[in-house]
Amino acid sequence: SHPTVAFIGLGNMGGPMAANLVSAGVPVLGFDVVPEAMETARHHGVQVVTDPLEAVAQAEVVLTMLPSGRHVISAYQETPGLLAAARPDTIFLDCSTINISEAQQAAKLAQQAGFRAVDAPVSGGVVGAEAGTLAFMVGGEDDVVAAVRPLLDIMGARAVHCGGNGLGQAAKICNNMILGVTQIAVGEAFVLGEKLGLTHQALFDVVSKASGQCWALTTNCPVPGPVPTSPATRDYQPGFAGALMAKDLTLATNALDEQSVDAQLGRLAAAIYSEFAAGDGARQDFSAIINTIRENSSS
Ligand code: NAD
Repeated sequence: SHPTVAFIGLGNMGGPMAANLVSAGVPVLGFDVVPEAMETARHHGVQVVTDPLEAVAQAEVVLTMLPSGRHVISAYQETPGLLAAARPDTIFLDCSTINISEAQQAAKLAQQAGFRAVDAPVSGGVVGAEAGTLAFMVGGEDDVVAAVRPLLDIMGARAVHCGGNGLGQAAKICNNMILGVTQIAVGEAFVLGEKLGLTHQALFDVVSKASGQCWALTTNCPVPGPVPTSPATRDYQPGFAGALMAKDLTLATNALDEQSVDAQLGRLAAAIYSEFAAGDGARQDFSAIINTIRENSSS
């Protein structure tokens, strides 16, 4: 039988993830600071509680899906926080995307309080959360990861154990740094191709079968036409919103600084997406960066 889960943070991602756990027969007690999020979760069979400590006191796994590391650490530590309310042997499973150093700190806080901890950030977005097809990148001890794997298998299609605490976040942030850089590179190539008189289709046909091939081109093609399912064909509705790419690249920059890595492209991508996300780009798919590149190339 499944462990009882206290699900803290029932937002765009947490809401459908909790609903999938309920559908699979997992007992889920849920809490969010926003009443509407609780109401939606209640409709999906989540047993909502007005005091998160009440949920944690009954749970074997405390799953957090919160905006940032600050939220996770303060939820753990607040007086009284989630750690103070938990039963012995509880596993703290954080699925939020947060700084690697904060993930390590959160795990350490849980471990110092006598509990076990796993970080398991996801990719796949709201669509993946609803369909139960998320990809989890997991950091923690073998036995703890094994204990939560059945829950991850309900909410996702794939879970890769990347190493110790914090290394799930590390893998996610490295992937998204590649993604940010390559989406800009593909946008720049299409704008140059336009100026030179290449059709989008001709450039796509060559590059998609050549060494420039990448996800940013063949799945998330930034011009309408070559890939009928790409966000460009629906006026850049996300997909993966610019605000989320900007957030993940900020996490990447923080890790680059902490580790003193000479990553000029990663840092530049972070700057480009933070400017993009300061305007309309926040709510557009991040492939719409091509429009900024084109606008800046008009003279
Ligand atoms: P969201 O803002 O929709 O949900 C977060 C929820 O946490 C909100 O409902 C908020 O009210 C709640 N919350 C904040 N503080 C709380 C507290 N102390 N106790 C209880 N609830 C609290 O965000 P989201 O899109 O669901 O993202 C959650 C995490 O997943 C983020 O770290 C995000 O970066 C990551 N993520 C999001 C996506 C995506 O496509 N949305 C994809 C991958 C990863």
